Amino acid sequence: MSLELDRLERAYSGFELGPIDLTIDREVLSVLGPSGCGKTTLLWLIAGVLQPDAGRITLDGRSLEGLPPERRNVGLVFQDGALFPNMTVGENIAYASSDPAYTSALAELLEVEDVLGRRPQTLSGGERQRAALARTLATEPAALLLDEPLSSLDAPIRRRLRSELYDLFDSIGIPVVLVTHDQRTATALGDRITVLRAGAIEQTGPSTAVLDRPATRFVADFTGNENIFEASVSDRGSGTVTLRVDDLRFRATIGPDSGPAVGSTLTACVHPSRVRLRTPPTEPEAVGSLIEGTVRRWLNEGDEYRVVVELADASLTLTAAVSPPEFESLSVDVGSSLQVAIAPDAVHLISVDNPDERSGNRTDASDRN
Ligand code: ATP
Repeated sequence: MSLELDRLERAYSGFELGPIDLTIDREVLSVLGPSGCGKTTLLWLIAGVLQPDAGRITLDGRSLEGLPPERRNVGLVFQDGALFPNMTVGENIAYASSDPAYTSALAELLEVEDVLGRRPQTLSGGERQRAALARTLATEPAALLLDEPLSSLDAPIRRRLRSELYDLFDSIGIPVVLVTHDQRTATALGDRITVLRAGAIEQTGPSTAVLDRPATRFVADFTGNENIFEASVSDRGSGTVTLRVDDLRFRATIGPDSGPAVGSTLTACVHPSRVRLRTPPTEPEAVGSLIEGTVRRWLNEGDEYRVVVELADASLTLTAAVSPPEFESLSVDVGSSLQVAIAPDAVHLISVDNPDERSGNRTDASDRN
């Protein structure tokens, strides 16, 4: 099963989407991007609500050109679920399928058996989303499209539904395209992520690769990487370079046959989840570059803490994402001293003044987990 978008384009006055080239197999592709970048337009083109100006969409080898939405066998679920308000949940699901055994299996899978007799407006946001998904899956779509499915839910329900959806997508085995502006939803549910910016694909790749090795500063920024900085190359060894920021030096891993020249300047980043904080002294070689720093602030984000550390020897602050047990064991206080460990392979070079290196850093649609 595969959904293929080939040079897909659509323009409005003042906005152009595409050309978009994507192949989505039995996997979840999260389309991530800011408001107005074209996420909904892309879904509507696939669903057939909108017609492209150019390009082709094929689903399991079948061209969708000219087919109205109801003949595409593509399921579309909106942010608010969009169930028929004058029908119960059970009637909504049954409307989509004439197979009672299948609809009751779906109701069980999505845990809506207890609300089958209720109208949509009496349901909680999470129940409404699950009911809408059950109704869409009852049509046995060959591909599933989700437009901000979790954004109207509050944090605890969103977290629960995220993990339920993860299991569900794993079991249905069809191409799923999920659009969201929320990086956590995109990475939690997506096998791969496509980052859209102003109608164009900025980067596509496995979720972890997009987080750890953003192709551009925009991707790094948008995927929650707060640690983006300019550095110069002060030395080059086998497989690593030494980066210099003011008086601070640390190592970064480079590819076997490439790397920036000594003296060049570049933009680098380290994802907050790859910044390690230490209180006791540690052997520098064991962890990579070890830097003295002072805690400037910290933030409890519920499932993790963000600790902002100002580094000694450089006008640079780095943010570390720290788990609650780790945070407690570090006994972090504003003003306290810590050591920051950055493994060379945690440092990603976003752009350097060597064009060959820039293209070498990009991941593309064929870069899979
Ligand atoms: P959001 O996250 O806010 O929903 P989005 O990424 O889904 O945004 P789209 O809804 O696809 O973005 O819109 C992309 C751009 O196209 C926006 O600038 C929007 O104003 C514009 N646009 C969308 N529909 C139309 C239309 N019917 N006529 C003119 N412009 C439109």
